[in-house]
Amino acid sequence: MRPSDAAGTMLTIDLGAIASNYRTLNDQLGGVRCAAAVKANAYGVGVAQVAPVLAAAGCNDFFVATQDEALALRSLLPEPTITVLNGADPGREAECLDHDLRPALNDLGQIERWATLARERGRLDAVLHLDTGMCRLGLPAYEVERLATEPERLDGLNLILIMSHLACADDAGHPMNQQQRMTFDRLRQMLPSAPASLANSSGIYLGPEFHYDLARPGVALYGGNPTPDKPNPMAEVIRLQSKIVQVRDVDSPQTVGYGAAHRVAGPARIATVPVGYADGYRRSLSGRAFAAIGGARVPVVGRVSMDLISLDVSTLRPEQTRPGTTVDLIGGPCPLDEISALGETIGYELLTSLGQRYERCYIDGVS
Ligand SMILES: *Cc1c(COP(=O)(O)O)cnc(C)c1O
Repeated sequence: MRPSDAAGTMLTIDLGAIASNYRTLNDQLGGVRCAAAVKANAYGVGVAQVAPVLAAAGCNDFFVATQDEALALRSLLPEPTITVLNGADPGREAECLDHDLRPALNDLGQIERWATLARERGRLDAVLHLDTGMCRLGLPAYEVERLATEPERLDGLNLILIMSHLACADDAGHPMNQQQRMTFDRLRQMLPSAPASLANSSGIYLGPEFHYDLARPGVALYGGNPTPDKPNPMAEVIRLQSKIVQVRDVDSPQTVGYGAAHRVAGPARIATVPVGYADGYRRSLSGRAFAAIGGARVPVVGRVSMDLISLDVSTLRPEQTRPGTTVDLIGGPCPLDEISALGETIGYELLTSLGQRYERCYIDGVS
């Protein structure tokens, strides 16, 4: 079904564009293995649809945040490696093994529990996550030093990946990038040698010295710009479109929406569109974002409500703004990253907030 045939709001997701983005990142990596981050339901886009497309495009390595996400992904894809970034839930280590999931080992306790399982079940593959500057997940330098002086902590474990995560990769000139890379190299030297992984989407564009043996892009697969200071090299994946439900001709001064936050001084036409913050159209977009009708930008005026927004369509002719007219909200003439910035957020958050109330239409647009 095409958006113009649908009753209400339509989220179109281009799976062909995701496959194309995977190939673009692969080209950029010049032979280095490319994994995919599919946590949070593939950044809100739909892991059940996305993961098989990535696997068909040649992706053999997937990263998720939680063990439950990993179990769901394993039921979709029997073959590829699946790494649980948050690590195994305490007491559920054996379940990881039984479903061939790799918990990232983020601290000495997680290492201890995985090594205990290895003593019961035989040698186990292990992914070590080092903290090189996020102060979030991963072993900090003092724990790596402890591992180096007490190597028996890794007995029974095959180190198959040592990874870390960049804090500022989207800012190519930020000194943290080189600092983290050097810290990563210094810490890795204290450990048995193993394949390494540092780059997320933006990290891939920092240059080959950030590529190591495996890259872990997420947002770029879904169309987010990994190089925010340059044109977006990725194909667009999502497009959110709705339809005008009502049009109000205003002839005397009036206010629009909650809090009377927008004042119309003179004659104007206000169109109401049935998408609100309950659909992931964030309230911070109030009075700041724009939508597009027939490619022409129109401002979002007043506050975003739970289920509705208001557009000032005074610049368009009445016949261009009848009820039922299609309105672009995100994607196409309203680029994801541009709309996100207007709402003082990032594409990641708009994607993962995409609502469940509208129809989702998966297409294969780019091949
Ligand atoms: C989410 C995540 C990624 C992917 O990051 P993007 O910026 O979306 O490319 C990679 N590695 C880790 C550890 C992550 O948490």
